Amino acid sequence: MKREIVVYLLSIPTKMQIVHVYIKCVHCGQWHDHANIVSYTSFSGRGENWSDGKTVTSYDHEFASFVKCGNCGEIFWENDAMCVEEHYVSKYVKTKEKDEGVEKNFTPKQLAAIEDFIKGGEMHDLPDTSYPLSEYFYNDFPEVFIIEDLDKALRQGEDISMHKEIELRVYLWHTINDFARFRKMFELKRLFELQYLKEMFDRKSMKNQIEYRRLSEKKFTDYQKLRVSNLERLVEILNPVKNLKANIIQFDSSDIQKIEINRELGRFDKAKEQINKLNEADKKFYRKFIYKSSKYISNRDTRIFRID
Ligand SMILES: [Zn+2]
Repeated sequence: MKREIVVYLLSIPTKMQIVHVYIKCVHCGQWHDHANIVSYTSFSGRGENWSDGKTVTSYDHEFASFVKCGNCGEIFWENDAMCVEEHYVSKYVKTKEKDEGVEKNFTPKQLAAIEDFIKGGEMHDLPDTSYPLSEYFYNDFPEVFIIEDLDKALRQGEDISMHKEIELRVYLWHTINDFARFRKMFELKRLFELQYLKEMFDRKSMKNQIEYRRLSEKKFTDYQKLRVSNLERLVEILNPVKNLKANIIQFDSSDIQKIEINRELGRFDKAKEQINKLNEADKKFYRKFIYKSSKYISNRDTRIFRID
């Protein structure tokens, strides 16, 4: 069944199409219920764009292309798994009784998945796989759970492809940086937002924010070793193929990512050298990033920053 959901964000209607699918874990064979988002209007340019390439919107759309098994806890990619849309299964079950030739309505791949699902599957109460898992968000720091998953997947995945390793490492990079992704305490342009005014005058909320920030900064420090080793490897393997995941990464140029990683690692000379080597078109396209990055490099500052 295809369902269309309209999300209203700042009164801009945004359409997402959700396809309900069953997906089988490649590690343990458990079938899952999975909501696959196939299309939506991108918020690009409407959120906060950060120097590490992450765009933060109020309504966070960042679903990974990998999922986590609810049975064995391992990570696997949608593309590698046996997968069938829910409406195909219903169609098959409904018509099988009266139509003996029902099989011909499906491709062999779909048929294999449908039969496997029916053989081993319970139709109801299947675990959900959408990543990150919704249960993570009942915690103050859901990032901790994501970091653990990614770190585990990277350590176990000797045979994962470069493309997958890059996706895991970019995700890890962004998630650790989330601990340092602060809004300014005072922002002139937010003065007209009711929520912002409420926060400003609510002493309890102010105290909570300061405490939250203090704990976040501590977490960022706790993950230093992992952050550095992740970035050292990532800068080596980032390839010149553009468009890692164009819908969420504002900058898909690996050159820009390398400049940012080197700066975050404190390799300022290297970052500067790479800026100088950019071609004119990139220099123009990424001018806001380059302008700010150059300033941070001169100040020998490794912190992430907002581009706009
Ligand atoms: Zn599994």
